[in-house]
Amino acid sequence: MKQAIKAYHLDEEGDWVAVLVCGHFQHVRHKPPFINRPWVITEEGRNNMLGHRLNCKKCDLGVAKDETN
Ligand SMILES: [Zn+2]
Repeated sequence: MKQAIKAYHLDEEGDWVAVLVCGHFQHVRHKPPFINRPWVITEEGRNNMLGHRLNCKKCDLGVAKDETN
């Protein structure tokens, strides 16, 4: 299911995590050459991707929300 990005945070390892509107978290790592998301490195790039829809496998699987508040 496609869900829009509404925010970001860093995990304990310093990798960026997107917070989706459905309440699930999804890593948006930039680890070339395997995962190329150069936009996640800069604040401007991240802001440009707010509202972009990612495929949320957790929704498809019916996983409980990651967001606790
Ligand atoms: Zn979801």
